[in-house]
Amino acid sequence: MTKINSNYLKLQGSYLFAHIAKQINAFLAKNPNADIIRLGIGDVTLPITKTVLDAMHSAVDEMGKKESFRGYGPEQGYDFLINTIIENDYTPRSIQFSKEEVFVSDGAKCDVGNIQELFSTDSIVAICDPVYPVYLDSNVMAGRTGEIKDNGYFDKIVYLPTNKENGFSPSLPDTNVNLIYLCSPNNPTGTALTKEELKKWIDYATKNKAIILYDAAYREYITDETLPKSIYEVEGAKKVAIEFNSFSKTAGFTGVRCAYTVVPKELEAYTDKGELYSVNKLWNRRQTTKFNGVPYIVQKAAEAVYSPQGKKETKELIEYYMTNAKIITDGLTNAGYEVYGGVNAPYIWWKLPAGIKSIDFLDILLEKCHVVGTPGSGFGPEGEGYFRLTAFGDRDRTIEAVKRITSTKFV
Ligand SMILES: *Cc1c(COP(=O)(O)O)cnc(C)c1O
Repeated sequence: MTKINSNYLKLQGSYLFAHIAKQINAFLAKNPNADIIRLGIGDVTLPITKTVLDAMHSAVDEMGKKESFRGYGPEQGYDFLINTIIENDYTPRSIQFSKEEVFVSDGAKCDVGNIQELFSTDSIVAICDPVYPVYLDSNVMAGRTGEIKDNGYFDKIVYLPTNKENGFSPSLPDTNVNLIYLCSPNNPTGTALTKEELKKWIDYATKNKAIILYDAAYREYITDETLPKSIYEVEGAKKVAIEFNSFSKTAGFTGVRCAYTVVPKELEAYTDKGELYSVNKLWNRRQTTKFNGVPYIVQKAAEAVYSPQGKKETKELIEYYMTNAKIITDGLTNAGYEVYGGVNAPYIWWKLPAGIKSIDFLDILLEKCHVVGTPGSGFGPEGEGYFRLTAFGDRDRTIEAVKRITSTKFV
């Protein structure tokens, strides 16, 4: 008899997202001609830019010639990309890394999901609420969370409420935790942490021998120049933090697949005997065993994102989305709604009128406006009462959606 990993049976989120898909399909079956606008997508919609595409094309051609063909590359990524990342994303901020500290991968999702396996299964995990569901789910699968309670919270997880009461900056836990997931700018609230707020977490981690897992997938969306784009801009972070970055939202790579994770050599955790051990070594061992590198073609494309023209095009992509974000934020604010985010992230976190459950609002918005969004409860219990709209849509469709929403009475 082969038994399954029964931790998988504890997973929750997929039910909600399956429910959302079901509701939309049911609505479409009843209203086949409805002109639906999707502001629920957490995916980019603009194509790969010309400079990046050209780089990809020439890399494809290289693969077709014996002299320039490439087979397996280094699991950690090619030096040309790693050096370009360091030179562009860190050196200008006076942050030094050697190439062994940057690991190129096929996605931040994989890396944030896989990183937990470096740490003991009895580690105590702190997760912001609401947040990107992968942090929680990967720990559910690993058996770190205990059982889910009736109120929707897992037994052993330390939740860090991230809500308007605390200005979307979670408070430190009053207990000792080992692993802390932070996402800034945060999906789904669209809010970002300041250097002072990060310093507080770095000090906590230093004092409590904890490790911060910092997801910066949206860092290029930051418009407020006082906000950090990397946790390593804050002193002490190298000893306590791993940083995840991705070309997905930055350069439209959600389908191309390329990301990178920084694991500083200074970062250490403890063996069973209480001795310090390099986390960088562990991640290198993990990646070389279970991962075979990102395609050369894709890494050449990612390198082109950093060329002067590549940077210019990428900036334009982000500005397009952020103009959408402003249209949504301004529209809803002027109509008297309370909205957060949308300034340093492509997400708008809409506080629903009191008493409306976010899952019910999915149907209400569909019925009344033919607009799709995502119920806040899909991102954690604290997301209840909120609704996420995204700026990844088409400009005209976004304007139209805002027009429909602001001319509708929901209560
Ligand atoms: C989209 C997203 C990712 C996924 O990145 P990939 O590199 O495409 O796997 C990671 N973290 C957050 C918070 C995201 O929203």
